Amino acid sequence: MRIAIYPGSFDPLTNGHLDVAQRAAKLFDRVIVAIAENDSKHPLFTLAERVALVKKATAHLPNVQTDSFDGLLVNYVAERKAKAIVRGLRAVSDFEFEFQLALMNRKLDENIETIFMMPKDTYTFLSSRIVKEIARLGGDIRSFVPPNVQSALIKKLKPQRQKGAK
Ligand code: ADP
Repeated sequence: MRIAIYPGSFDPLTNGHLDVAQRAAKLFDRVIVAIAENDSKHPLFTLAERVALVKKATAHLPNVQTDSFDGLLVNYVAERKAKAIVRGLRAVSDFEFEFQLALMNRKLDENIETIFMMPKDTYTFLSSRIVKEIARLGGDIRSFVPPNVQSALIKKLKPQRQKGAK
């Protein structure tokens, strides 16, 4: 069984993330979307909310599972008996950080390979941060995130927008 871990904050999941997960699902027997607690990034959605959003948005992909993890990624990967880490590469700007991360993870555990996947070109400009910003300003995010994420963002940001309008 070839298992890959797709780690990230997923705050929240975008169509770019979903595209990468779908591509990875064609290459591996099982792909586990592993959501990092990452409290230092002050996520908009709680860990439980992010897990629920990913679970629902990937429900149509039979070999994609959702999980969360805390601590060192390589330890989690070994624990799940996975062979690879999947990361998305959008632009050259992602490369430097991802390269450093991949080599560091290899230093920590040389049995684990990092695989980079490019999303569909129309998703290369997407990031969770930008989607949150557009939603916060009342912009249309329908083409950027799955429908359940869209509703969750609107619900979460409504009180903030009302506060800002006062
Ligand atoms: P992190 O907080 O670790 O950067 P993210 O949740 O932002 O995690 O993203 C997780 C992974 O998904 C990273 O590899 C990131 O490069 C990738 N990713 C994010 N947005 C996109 C996108 N629009 N297309 C492809 N990959 C993406």
